Amino acid sequence: MNKSTPMCSECSTKMQRGTTVFEYRDNGIQISIPYVPAWVCPTCGEVSFTPKTTDQLIETLRELVATAKKARQRQPLLREYLVKVA
Ligand SMILES: [Zn+2]
Repeated sequence: MNKSTPMCSECSTKMQRGTTVFEYRDNGIQISIPYVPAWVCPTCGEVSFTPKTTDQLIETLRELVATAKKARQRQPLLREYLVKVA
């Protein structure tokens, strides 16, 4: 049943399902995506994502960076946004 559970690439411990906060910082833009589903190593804290999650992270990040850059061009009075998708 758990045969698809990955082992930690750093210390070879069996990883556990959990969530992590994905942080991105570049050139004055800061993006934080909390509650990203991930495999987490209980021993060393190494985190890995499934390919599907990785794809969604990359796509979401690309959209958010574009939004942030656009917002910066209008010298924003609003500097921080919290967006949730049900
Ligand atoms: Zn580990």
